[in-house]
Amino acid sequence: MAAADPSAEDIEAGRRLFAAPWEFVGAAGSYTSLPPMRGTEIAFAGRSNVGKSSLINALTGRKALARISRTPGRTQELIFFSAGGGEFTMVDMPGYGYAAVGKEKVAAWTELIHAYLLGRANLARVYVLVDARHGLKDTDMPTLDALGRAAVSHQVVLTKADALKPTEQDARLAAVEAALAKRPAAYPQVLATSSRNTSGIPQLRAAVAKLLAERSMR
Ligand code: GDP
Repeated sequence: MAAADPSAEDIEAGRRLFAAPWEFVGAAGSYTSLPPMRGTEIAFAGRSNVGKSSLINALTGRKALARISRTPGRTQELIFFSAGGGEFTMVDMPGYGYAAVGKEKVAAWTELIHAYLLGRANLARVYVLVDARHGLKDTDMPTLDALGRAAVSHQVVLTKADALKPTEQDARLAAVEAALAKRPAAYPQVLATSSRNTSGIPQLRAAVAKLLAERSMR
C-alpha cells in the first residue's frame, strides 16, 4: 500500500469511535422518510453479497446491527445507526446488482440513492465495498457515477482480502486504484479488509475517525 499506515493514535481513536454504543435510528425506503440530518454521516454501499453486513459487524463488534438490516422488507432501505448520542451516523445502503431484482426495483433504488446523495449535506463519505476476489464490476459503475455526479467523497474498500494471497492483493489494489484515477470524487487510496481475519479493520476505523476529526475542524 502506497499511503502511510495510520499512527497508533489514529488506530486508538478509531477503536474508541466504533466501540461506542450504537443505536438503530431508523430505516428509509423513500426520500421523504429519511431521518433528520444530525452529526456527521458515513455510508456503506456495495453489491449484494459483497460482505457489507460482515464488515459492519467487524467494525462495531455488534452482530445485532447487521441483523436489523437483514429484516425482510429492509433490504431495499437505507438503514441508519448512530453512536455518540447522534454525533456520528453510519448508513447501511441497500445492496445492488442482484440479478433477480426487476427493473422497477432498480429504478426505485436508483431514485432513492440519487435523492439521498444530493440532499445529504452531513454525508462525509461513502465507502464503496468491492469484493477483493472480483475487483470492480460493471454493476458498481452506476453507483460510482452517481457519487461522482453528486460530488460526494467516496472511497473503495476491498472486502474478503483473506481470499487472496498478498501478491494478488497488491495487484488488485493497484488495478482498482488505477481504475479510480479518472474519478475526481473518488479517494485515491483503496483499503483492503477482511471481516474473517480482521485485517484492515483497525485501519478502516482509524480512517473514519480521521475523516470525522477533519470534518469537525472545518
Ligand atoms: P452482504 O450481503 O453484503 O451483507 O454480505 P454478507 O456480509 O452477508 O457476506 C456475504 C458472504 O460473504 C457470506 O457468505 C460471508 O460469509 C462471506 N464473507 C463476508 N466477509 C468475508 C470475509 O472477510 N472473508 C471471506 N472469505 N468471506 C466473507
